[in-house]
Amino acid sequence: MKRALNFNAGPAALPAEVLEKAQQEMMNYQDSGMGVMELSHRSKAYEEIHNKAESLLRSLLDIPDNYDVLFLQGGASLQFTMVPMNLLQEGSTAYYILTGSWSEKAYKEATKIGKASIASTGKDGSYKVIPDMTGVDLNDSAAYVHITTNNTIYGTQWQNIPYFKDIPLVADMSSDILSRKIDVSQYGLIYAGAQKNLGPSGVTVAVVRKDLLSRSQDNLPVMLNYRTHSDSRSLYNTPPTLAIYLLKLVLEWAESLGGLDEIERINLLKSNLIYDAIDSSGGFYKGHADPGSRSQMNVTFTLDNEELTANFLSQAKENGFIGLNGHRSVGGCRASIYNAVPLDHVEKLVDFMKVFQSQN
Ligand SMILES: *Cc1c(COP(=O)(O)O)cnc(C)c1O
Repeated sequence: MKRALNFNAGPAALPAEVLEKAQQEMMNYQDSGMGVMELSHRSKAYEEIHNKAESLLRSLLDIPDNYDVLFLQGGASLQFTMVPMNLLQEGSTAYYILTGSWSEKAYKEATKIGKASIASTGKDGSYKVIPDMTGVDLNDSAAYVHITTNNTIYGTQWQNIPYFKDIPLVADMSSDILSRKIDVSQYGLIYAGAQKNLGPSGVTVAVVRKDLLSRSQDNLPVMLNYRTHSDSRSLYNTPPTLAIYLLKLVLEWAESLGGLDEIERINLLKSNLIYDAIDSSGGFYKGHADPGSRSQMNVTFTLDNEELTANFLSQAKENGFIGLNGHRSVGGCRASIYNAVPLDHVEKLVDFMKVFQSQN
């Protein structure tokens, strides 16, 4: 079977090996006579899946013991609400660094819950540049600082994670978790919807430093309280068992590739191929992001005018490329090249870009 040249922004490509394994086990998981989604979430077989997903994530991201791993629902978007609900205490301020549409949304939710303030925004520069926060001092009593490590829509990514002394850093890593090595100890809380780099939609991963859990008040709705999920190892109620099973398969695949060192190496290779095609096109293709802020996950670009851009997109479609349209809010083109997009699909795209340029 021919796999699609899938450059979707999310949900996005999954590794073929993962889908094949899931297919093999779909009807009969480990001779149980049941599929994974038919297992009780209290069964030993499911518990093993759940625990394996957590332990693989811990080893791949090198998560220290003083952090909890939570499997939640509601997507990254519910974390926009849960983060301030749990971490933003009365009398303190949460700071947001705005680098695109998702951080704007996160900030807006925080203002509904408590006091939130914009520490920096790249909006005036069309979010082409990640702000330089070196030397920026924020109030020591701040509740946290929120960043979006990769900006899926604008195609920018933090290269140097900012540091604000004792203020916990909260990061939305939905579109670059597991794509490069990170130092978890730099963060108070990391969250990510799974549907870009971790698996299917339906499960959201949160990695939270345990001391921060004491901020969650008892009067929070039980499902929106991080402590509920921490105390029950994400089994307070029925977790999204199928999504967590697929997450486990994706993590096994990531480990089999050689972990984050190897994944980061391949991702750099993939994104450099497209950026080189843009930079060597003599202005035919124009990258949106400032070169120092470029994303390894979402490459955004336009052509000289809207007609040519539309032509490019329609010919790309005819040639089997899926998902190259930019987000509806910014237009242009976007190639999302998450971990599971194979190198040879990126090579095919670059070949197509060169042919299109030579014909236009
Ligand atoms: C996709 C995305 C979201 C939204 O995720 P949902 O799971 O759909 O809520 C939030 N933040 C970033 C950075 C994203 O890429």
